[in-house]
Amino acid sequence: AKENGKNDFQIFMPFMLMKNFKKIEIEKSLKKAIEADQFELYYQPVINLRNMEIHSVEALLRWHLPGKGIISPLEFIPVAEESGLIVRIGEMVIEKAFSDLKEWENKGIDYLHIAINLSTRQFKTKFFEKMVQKQIERYGVNPQKISFEITETGAVENFDVSLKILSFLCQLGIKFLIDDFGTGYSSLIYLRRLPIGGVKIDRSFISEIELSKESRAIVEGIILMAHKLDLKVIAEGVETKRELEILKEIGCDFAQGYLFSKPVPKTEIEKLLIERKIF
Ligand code: C2E
Ligand code: CA
Ligand code: CA
Ligand code: CA
Repeated sequence: AKENGKNDFQIFMPFMLMKNFKKIEIEKSLKKAIEADQFELYYQPVINLRNMEIHSVEALLRWHLPGKGIISPLEFIPVAEESGLIVRIGEMVIEKAFSDLKEWENKGIDYLHIAINLSTRQFKTKFFEKMVQKQIERYGVNPQKISFEITETGAVENFDVSLKILSFLCQLGIKFLIDDFGTGYSSLIYLRRLPIGGVKIDRSFISEIELSKESRAIVEGIILMAHKLDLKVIAEGVETKRELEILKEIGCDFAQGYLFSKPVPKTEIEKLLIERKIF
């Protein structure tokens, strides 16, 4: 049942069910969820392919809606963005992630980096960068251990605003990663004008590298070009040993996916973090 399901919540909270809610109702429930603290961060490990050790975790948001189970961020983030609630939810995510990172550091897991997803609307709101700076001080976390994941589209639209916010946070030591890389329309050359540390190649390419020579060539090309531009490459959604082998062969730096672990609650990820090696 719930814990054993290969893939998460989609099974228990079908998309259609949420669609039947009026947007306004989801908004209302979201407001309640903030007050009642119904949100939890799950974590998925990111593996360094050079030594096969855990390098970082990506924080992935889950909403426990009483009577409805766990709701996917794919379903509520868009509503949260439209209603502006993403600002509060986003700050809460940052606080939880910083607090967990600090707690792990205090427990001796001091190698760990953390990656946090930002929605476009969220990181371009006024004072976002000041809020981040304030939370860094409040939780006493090392900014060098923090990455923010943003999409290509979010990065390049309102380019000057992006540049200003990214530059400010980069100066603090935070890194930016381009999420779902390859699915947008921007080129690496253009993105390179922003202070970016790496790209995460979208799962749709990774799931094809075993069977399609073209997909493999595309991924290989992205890696070559990224490395020339001094960017790290992370492969998303690695599910098979063969995919992992190919990614190692073509020089990918990091990987994450169900092959290593699906996103799991804090207490579960902790066990993996202590071991540090998954295979
Ligand atoms: P994403 O950032 O691209 O995250 C990767 C998604 O792929 C996650 O879905 C993860 O559970 C899933 N995944 C990881 N490995 C595999 C795999 O091997 N196979 C398959 N089939 N899937 C895999 P999730 O957790 O449902 O998150 C969906 C999206 O919601 C994320 O996509 C991200 O864009 C957004 N999101 C999640 N947490 C947050 C958050 O705190 N803030 C914001 N703004 N967005 C978030
Ligand atoms: Ca992500
Ligand atoms: Ca992604
Ligand atoms: Ca995605």
